[in-house]
Amino acid sequence: MSFLTLVNVEKVFPNGVQAVYDFNLDVQAGEFIVLVGPSGCGKSTTLRMIAGLEEISKGTLSIDDKVINDMAPKDRDIAMVFQNYALYSHMTVYHNMGFSLVLRRENPDHIHERVMWAADILGLTPYLNRKPNKLSGGQRQRVALGRAIVRDPKIFLLDEPLSNLDAKLRSSMRKELKSLQNRLKATMVYVTHDQIEALTLADRIVIMKDGWIQQVGTPYEVYHDPQNVFVATFMGTPPMNAFPVKVTEAGDLSLDGRPMALNEGTRSALKEKGLFGKEVILGIRPEHIAVERQNGQTDGFFSVADLYELLGSDALVHFNVEGKHLIAKIEDRSSVAAHDPIRYVFDPEHLYLFESDTGRRIHARH
Ligand code: ADP
Ligand code: MG
Repeated sequence: MSFLTLVNVEKVFPNGVQAVYDFNLDVQAGEFIVLVGPSGCGKSTTLRMIAGLEEISKGTLSIDDKVINDMAPKDRDIAMVFQNYALYSHMTVYHNMGFSLVLRRENPDHIHERVMWAADILGLTPYLNRKPNKLSGGQRQRVALGRAIVRDPKIFLLDEPLSNLDAKLRSSMRKELKSLQNRLKATMVYVTHDQIEALTLADRIVIMKDGWIQQVGTPYEVYHDPQNVFVATFMGTPPMNAFPVKVTEAGDLSLDGRPMALNEGTRSALKEKGLFGKEVILGIRPEHIAVERQNGQTDGFFSVADLYELLGSDALVHFNVEGKHLIAKIEDRSSVAAHDPIRYVFDPEHLYLFESDTGRRIHARH
């Protein structure tokens, strides 16, 4: 098991495009790190710098405290698995898995032992004599993983390895990968654009946007304690509702022309920042909006359900407030239908507020 450190790492491509800015991260030995963010945010570039496939423009990269900025990829002892894991089509599963060890001129007995070990772990023993075109997508993906684990590398890098698989297979491979990582106690850096994959796989998640790290934290932390509006709305399905609202001179939020009371912690944070009378961004997760059919009660807020979506055990209600589209998640599926007049209430203990210019979280004092 090895640890990996990136300090002030940047990447500027020869054409002047800067893909990564001031990237700082300590990956612990045996940790499962997931880099997540929208397409083009710099995830693959970061991974390729760690692998040595791209030069680092600035900063320091080290494995086990040894600086590897200028070390050739083959000397880094890193294994990489890609989305397009092109197996050798003329070779059997057995030979595909052993090939990198053959290239390294390892002892044949040792190679055999490693391949049999990896096949056993990955459930590939019955398929060792097959060619890749006689395997399912999931089995091929497992062979690609097998090629990486036979080497027992210091660090595994995986770039969207599951995105070619259908949804069901992806979810079962996710479980396999997580348990594989646990058994190998391997240090892994995994790239995906899929926030569900990040939340389910990671020990810690690194959320990126436009080449900048937005937040680093456990799945629980980034979901429950997002540091800015980007992280808040990127992590979670359906996403957190977020929209601009006015803070009244008295320190309430003004919604639909009426004041919406805040708890004391939030109100004092707004006061401290001089935001009374100003605009902020209000965030609330769908599960923290209570919705019911209008029943004569006069407190709360009112709208009309535009759309009702059944998810299975619960349901989504779409509605509009001051022209903004909101989504609430409800458990009582029979309580609301499309076009019903509804009453909705935001749970004051689960409101998130963000600065409207920077998107930074305004923290309530506890
Ligand atoms: P991600 O993997 O998060 O989708 P990438 O790391 O592949 O993003 O790319 C980050 C940014 O760097 C993008 O704007 C991309 O167009 C740019 N980029 C990637 N590779 C090169 C390259 N070889 N030359 C110039 N720009 C590149
Ligand atoms: Mg990529």
